[in-house]
Amino acid sequence: MQIYNTLSKRKEEFKPLEPGKVKMYVCGPTVYNLIHIGNARPMIVFDTVRRYMEYKGYEVNYVSNFTDVDDKIIKKANEEGVEPSVISERYIAECKKDMEGMNIKPATKNPKATEEIGGMLDMIQTLIDKGHAYPAADGTVYFRTRSFKDYGKLSHKNLDDLQGGNRSLLVSGEDQKEDPLDFVLWKPKKEGEPYWDSCWCQGRPGWHIECSVMSKRYLGEEIDIHAGGEDLIFPHHENEIAQSEAANDKPFARYWMHNAFLNIDNRKMSKSLGNFFTVREISEKYDLQVLRFFMLSAHYRSPLNFSADLMEAAKNGYERIVTSVDNLKFLLDKAADTEMTGEEKNLLTEAQGFETKFDEAMDDDFNTADALAAIFELVKFVNSNAKAESSKAFLEALKQEIVTLSDICGLIVDKKAEMLDSDIEALIEERQAARKAKNFARADEIRDELLAKGIVLEDTREGVKWKRA
Ligand code: AMP
Ligand code: ZN
Repeated sequence: MQIYNTLSKRKEEFKPLEPGKVKMYVCGPTVYNLIHIGNARPMIVFDTVRRYMEYKGYEVNYVSNFTDVDDKIIKKANEEGVEPSVISERYIAECKKDMEGMNIKPATKNPKATEEIGGMLDMIQTLIDKGHAYPAADGTVYFRTRSFKDYGKLSHKNLDDLQGGNRSLLVSGEDQKEDPLDFVLWKPKKEGEPYWDSCWCQGRPGWHIECSVMSKRYLGEEIDIHAGGEDLIFPHHENEIAQSEAANDKPFARYWMHNAFLNIDNRKMSKSLGNFFTVREISEKYDLQVLRFFMLSAHYRSPLNFSADLMEAAKNGYERIVTSVDNLKFLLDKAADTEMTGEEKNLLTEAQGFETKFDEAMDDDFNTADALAAIFELVKFVNSNAKAESSKAFLEALKQEIVTLSDICGLIVDKKAEMLDSDIEALIEERQAARKAKNFARADEIRDELLAKGIVLEDTREGVKWKRA
């Protein structure tokens, strides 16, 4: 399995630190609003990386944080006149709903910055003790960037070029720094802001230290993969490396993966430019599986431009797979329970060739565009070879293959036939009539039938209420 590593700027063979296990950290969103579909790109991409690794037999420990202390959260809290935690908890819950809709597997752990302050204080102290950080007069603690000799190795930046670019910082009131390149680890509170006690001042952590600490706590000092959008390469990930490697004296992450931007009119989709669609808005128009398909239709390191046309194309593509599976289910209902014929066995071997193609595409730095193309070839093959006279075993094997490959992409293609509200209500009425006629056996039968379809009934004083379980 080849992974493009931002650190070496080339594809490398993936070798985990521990055989059969993958430790993976993905920088998560700052929670002050509904997530937009640009934020959804790394979520979908790295969830697919995780799913492929699991399919290959790895046990993946997947950690992704929520940044729940930040200027934007505080600003929003002040606007609404509530505590910052009200804002962050609200948008963490909303983000989780969106993630469920996009069929993103829950992380092994979603740490929150505000619950990890103790670890941050410890790491900052270690950095001070080792001479890599220093407190300034007002209690701000800075990382001494030049003390870390490998600084710039991820973003391939040269310290002296950075120095030139950063000169303006000196005149912006940050002259208590020893060097303009130094960055904040801990900063003093301002009036009305959340804060924690520390020996330097009452304050809160800088953004970069969060991830170094949460990654260490939940995955260890050395991890396999650290990932996020390409805007995080500098300064966020560069600073994480400096902090973690200076504190732990160990290489931090072996593979650094970065997704390219989701653009709109060829500009990065972002909150600050105001050119965004939230995942919630998209869900009003499309099944979020279509959004997932759209994201995977491009390689994760290529920029992807959002457009209505491409979403329509994604909808058609996704529906083509679902229709093929529906057709197989229809045939399966009526198929003879016979052995697979010799011809069917040969066809199945041929069908497995598409799985090999799929794997080759994914092994090549997760080329999901080619992997989806392999699924389409399989769908075409199935559409021309699944027949009314095919055996059940053959049809089942074909269906399984489409479902397995789609599932690696996180695409749900075996849609359980959902009951319509009107069908449910008709059955409830029939049950009421049965009860009135003292036909309790039928009434119970209907209750069980609905339960099997995930509909739960509740007899209340106002009548029968129902909900989907
Ligand atoms: P933020 O909440 O801005 O820190 O972003 C959370 C994640 O979304 C980070 O990994 C960002 O790199 C990523 N991200 C933000 N905007 C985009 C975009 N337009 N395209 C791709 N990734 C993005
Ligand atoms: Zn991070």
